[in-house]
Amino acid sequence: MSAVCHRCGGTKALPLVPCPFCNVIPKGDERPVAWLFSSAHLDESELKLASERIRLGETPDPSQSLRALAARNLQPTRNNQTLTPRQQIGLIALNVGLTPLSGLAVWWGLSATRPRAAHQALRITVPVMIVFSAVWIGLIVTRLFG
Ligand SMILES: [Zn+2]
Repeated sequence: MSAVCHRCGGTKALPLVPCPFCNVIPKGDERPVAWLFSSAHLDESELKLASERIRLGETPDPSQSLRALAARNLQPTRNNQTLTPRQQIGLIALNVGLTPLSGLAVWWGLSATRPRAAHQALRITVPVMIVFSAVWIGLIVTRLFG
């Protein structure tokens, strides 16, 4: 893989690494732009042309759809992965066997990196929490007033 710095037009090995010429590290909204100027999106001659245009002072301003395409490509595929059926059964066992708090811990742990899997963990954990809470409240009420 090779890339062109979207700021100075210098050549670098990967789109998201610091530029050896201007030291810019693509962050936030610049990351998709940086990816667009890599061999993942452009061929060698297009990269060369882009480099020349940036060196001449042009500021890259890719369209929203190009930025969206880049953002999708930057997202590692595992981020979209859901929990496997085995993991779901394991999570149910954990919730019922230990405590629904373990399900919440799994949800919390996944929420930043795997939003779909985190949402699944929550969908499994919340009903168990409701049933557990009902049982506990029922037990307390019968002990106090029974
Ligand atoms: Zn640069």
